[in-house]
Amino acid sequence: MSIENTILQNGELNRRKFISDTAKVVGSAIILSSSLAASAAGFKAEPVTVGQVMDTFIKEVPNSPFPKTVDTLKSGNREMAVTGIVTTMFATIDVIRKAIALNANFIIAHEPTFYNHADDTKWLENDSVYRYKADLLEQHQLTVWRNHDYVHSLQTDGVRKGLIDQLGWQNYGDPKQDIYDLLPAVTLKALITQLKQKLNIQTLRYVGNLNQSCKKILLMPGAAGGATQIGSLSTKKPDVLVCGEISEWETAEYVRDAQAKGEQVSLVVLGHIASEEPGSAFMAQWLKTHFADLKTTHISSGNSLSFL
Ligand SMILES: [Zn+2]
Repeated sequence: MSIENTILQNGELNRRKFISDTAKVVGSAIILSSSLAASAAGFKAEPVTVGQVMDTFIKEVPNSPFPKTVDTLKSGNREMAVTGIVTTMFATIDVIRKAIALNANFIIAHEPTFYNHADDTKWLENDSVYRYKADLLEQHQLTVWRNHDYVHSLQTDGVRKGLIDQLGWQNYGDPKQDIYDLLPAVTLKALITQLKQKLNIQTLRYVGNLNQSCKKILLMPGAAGGATQIGSLSTKKPDVLVCGEISEWETAEYVRDAQAKGEQVSLVVLGHIASEEPGSAFMAQWLKTHFADLKTTHISSGNSLSFL
């Protein structure tokens, strides 16, 4: 993006922000004249920066800011004036290209950019894929912020809230908890059909009897880890665990043994991305509420894995 473009964008941004702010106070009739008067008087609001967006979000999180977090900038800087925002699960190269096409220079991703939890890049210095991606971000002056720990730590976990909203399960349980009581109970097969439809999943994996009745659902999006998943199965005794991701040698084997012992329990593995993508939709909605003048687009990063 050229410098001229940036200035134009910011000018446009300021103008739109002013119009919108004015609209909130005085209504639409005098917006245009007010706006013209303002530009004639040389009025210029400050552009919104990356840091302002981050700080506004982080302030809503209890006990923030966190001294230790993976929610750092992966490229760019806090001072950058935002031209538009993209929210997504992964800042994939494809998502980065789409952000560039949208003239959005700020990507808020939920997961790492560089293939490990801490986004440590030292071990990738000579890797061609890493270099290509890092250079692409640099050339187009894009800022990437990972919002993982903070969005999960909102008073109601933003990812869970997004997921419950997308499933339409608001009346089945408290979104601060992980247990939901379906009304009425459905068969495992019907539950899987519902999950696939609502979360746009083509195929998923499960362990269980498709005719089993499912009422009490343990919902654990993302990758909680085997010990946490098995611990919750053990103490909460749900009919089914619906989770994002498993290690095949942990939770799936526990559920297989539980069934062999005679327990009525099943496992549905949505896929990590499918289970948490609604969190990025939540994030886009949050931005539209708090920074209404910034153009925000949620881009689904989709599943990297195909199924035959
Ligand atoms: Zn997550």
